[in-house]
Amino acid sequence: MGRLQDRVAVITAAGSGMGRAAARLFAREGATVVVADIDEKAASDTVDEITAKGGRARAHCVDVGDLAALRSLFDMVERDFGILHVLYNHAGIPGPAGLDISEAEYDRAGDINTKSAFFATSYALPLLRRAAPHASIIFTASVSGLVGSPLAPLYSMHKGALVLLMRSLAIAHGKEGIRVNAICPGPIQTPMLPQFFGRNQPAGADDMAAKFAAAIPLGRPGQPEEIAGAALFLASDESSFVTGVALPVDGGYTTQ
Ligand code: NAD
Repeated sequence: MGRLQDRVAVITAAGSGMGRAAARLFAREGATVVVADIDEKAASDTVDEITAKGGRARAHCVDVGDLAALRSLFDMVERDFGILHVLYNHAGIPGPAGLDISEAEYDRAGDINTKSAFFATSYALPLLRRAAPHASIIFTASVSGLVGSPLAPLYSMHKGALVLLMRSLAIAHGKEGIRVNAICPGPIQTPMLPQFFGRNQPAGADDMAAKFAAAIPLGRPGQPEEIAGAALFLASDESSFVTGVALPVDGGYTTQ
């Protein structure tokens, strides 16, 4: 307990799934968590769960693909907290499958999957500098950012880009006492998982989610709490000499 005592954390997409699990765990470890999500009710439900257990959290409704809205998130953090210890850029969407997509679909997916994380980090940097050497940035990439995804090339491109953004920032800001890492989840049981496979599923094909799960050495998909544990490690001083790492949390999927 207390591994994030009195620290301030922003988690995007914390209204559901892995983001919510991380918000709960960070708050249990003493952090004040800004629960940022496009879904206002989902964000306040996360906050209610945390405060009911005596934790500290604040809901903030934001579409991370909207830079003006994203900017106002960090303006609020500056005004109300004056510092940021943990930026967890978790938001992302499956986006469209394949190559036959419109420019609008391409742009919207990119806005949420990469532009948001780039600018959130840019806006947060002055606040993170004040938290050095306890400042940590975490990106949610994916196993699809480490190996190719034949049915999801755009998503794979976005997640691969986040891995190299993370490595670049780890080198650029290490001497300032800011650590930067990424988590690369395998399939995790959240509302996004059926969306991802449903979107990619050609009519009449085998059940892709089941095929994917069968290819995991641990023989099952992961749970959101199993990602939150990795995020707590990267957010806290327990990982004080860890930076520039793309950590697969995937039941062994990418070892094969
Ligand atoms: P989830 O479906 O449980 O939750 C997604 C949350 O994102 C929702 O609360 C939703 O309201 C919010 N959201 C959607 N668009 C948003 C926007 N524009 N601005 C702010 N919030 C927005 O999903 P999850 O699986 O916990 O997390 C998604 C993240 O995890 C994504 O980055 C995704 O690429 C990544 N990921 C998921 C899996 C998986 O199997 N679930 C695997 C690898 C990576």
